Parts: sequence; structure tokens; C-alpha cells
Amino acid sequence: MLYVKAPAKINLTLDVLYKREDNYHEVEMVMTTIDLADRIGLSLRQDGKIVLSSTDQFVPTDQRNFAYQAARLLQQRFKISAGVTIKIEKEIPIAAGLAGGSTDAAATLRGLNVLWQLNLTLDELADIGAEIGSDVPFCVYGGTAHATGRGEQIREISAPPTCWVVLAKPKVGVSTADIYGGLNLTQVKHPNTQEMLQAIEQCDYKAMCRELGNVLEDVTLKLHPEVVKIKSLMERSGADAVLMSGSGPTVFGLVDSEIRVSRIVNALRGFCEDVYAVRMLGERHKLA
Ligand code: ATP
Repeated sequence: MLYVKAPAKINLTLDVLYKREDNYHEVEMVMTTIDLADRIGLSLRQDGKIVLSSTDQFVPTDQRNFAYQAARLLQQRFKISAGVTIKIEKEIPIAAGLAGGSTDAAATLRGLNVLWQLNLTLDELADIGAEIGSDVPFCVYGGTAHATGRGEQIREISAPPTCWVVLAKPKVGVSTADIYGGLNLTQVKHPNTQEMLQAIEQCDYKAMCRELGNVLEDVTLKLHPEVVKIKSLMERSGADAVLMSGSGPTVFGLVDSEIRVSRIVNALRGFCEDVYAVRMLGERHKLA
């Protein structure tokens, strides 16, 4: 069995510029991978089938699963006669704004590149990943990036200043389509992506905290008061900066002292089940 790590991402910034003629939104984001990860096990099958299972009963195991789609796409594109058994050990909460499905697809692409001896570059894998979803190319590379287009255009940037990331996911389901639908681009406060890029470039933790911004946050906060509550709990218990990731509902706080991390985690635990304290993984994957 070949094991591949599939880390989640957070958005340090998420901006929506306009709706395109192809109905996608033109976005601009700064994203980084964090050390909260699924583990994907891959083993070769001679019968050509793709067989997928997951430790989480809510993850689809058929062609709706992005990891399944990744395997099928590679199989068809490169006329592979072998199959694969995919085992997803799920750690990343589902439908949380952390790109759980996209990172499983990306890890499957990287792993099958090795298992099926395809010798593709990360750029080639990222192009294939873009056919599955806009966040997949970023997850193929990992690390930290400035993403544009519909999110699939990736420019690698340096790792953010070291800190802890505390995450809390309230028990509400958020539909990404509803959040985008509720967005009124004439009324939102856009994050300053250039200032964020500069903060990271200069390794300036305080500036990074100041420049956190997500144009979707207000829409989700209006629909889900639980998210407001978690945000203020995190702020009050000592996080340096707090933001919702993606379309939510996960909220993350940046913290530069370990003592405050445990205080925040304890404060949140009484209120919500899914609480994590992890490090950023600022650098790109060092594999195939
Ligand atoms: P993003 O941040 O990219 O918007 P997300 O973290 O909000 O993604 P996912 O965890 O990817 O959302 O789940 C969204 C939906 O994708 C789920 O409802 C699930 O049915 C489907 N899905 C497909 N493949 C997977 C997978 N491997 N893991 C989790 N969900 C998956």
C-alpha cells in the first residue's frame, strides 16, 4: 500500500472580483496548507477497477468522490489497464471550507503518478486536477500560493511566518452555491491581496494578521449565527486574528504563542466538537 498525505488548506485572503461569462467567479486568493490531513492509501489492482472506501460514512464512495474522479481521469487519459484500491482515512471535516475533497483528489493524482508509473510533472498533474475542481491544482502543489482565475492559476509564494492555526467547525452545513448566491459585489469589503502578499514576503506576522480577509465571510455570518459566536469566542480567548476559511463554516485563528493556543482550544471545546490546533505547512510537497 502506498500512503499519500492530503493536507487541508486555509484561505488567508479570498476575494471575488466578478462573475465571468462562463458562470465561474473570477477570484483572487492567498492559500496555505495546514497540518490537518487525510491519509490516502493506494494499492494496485490487476482487474482495472477503481474501488474506494472511507473511514467516514458521509463521504461518497462512488464516482461522486473527487479521488475516484481523479483515478478515472488518469486511467482514461493514459489508457491505463491497471486499477486501484483507494482507502481514505478522513481527518479533515467534510464541507467545511478546507478543501477536503479537492486535497483527496490531488493526493490521489500524486500517488497514482507513482503507482502507475506515469512520470508526469506537478504542472501536468495540476492541469488534470483543474478538470475535477478549481481548488485541486493548489492542492497538487501544496505550500503557499497566490491563486487567480477561478482559483486554478497557481503562483507559488514563500511560506508565511511561523504560527499556530486553531480551527473550529460549527455543526452547520453551508452550501457554497448559496454563499456565492448571497454575495453582492457592490457592497462587500474586499481584502487587500497585495498587502497580504507583501506581509508574507516580509515575514511580518502582525501585518499578515491585519490583512486576513474573506469576501464571503459576511454572507455566511448573516446566515449562520453559530459562526459569529465561534468567531467572537476565538477573539475573546486570545487569537491574534480570526477568519472564516473558504465559504465556511470553519473559522480559524492565528496564534503565535503555544500557551494561548491551549487557552483558545479549551474555550472552544465546550462549544463545538471539531476543534484542532495545527501548524502551517508553508512549503510545497516534496514528492513526485
Ligand atoms: P472547498 O473548500 O473546496 O469548497 P469543502 O472543504 O467545503 O471544499 P469538501 O469537504 O470537499 O468541501 O466536501 C464537499 C462535498 O464534496 C461533500 O458534500 C462530499 O459529498 C463531496 N466529496 C467528494 N469527494 C469527497 C472526499 N474525498 N472527501 C470529502 N467530501 C467529498
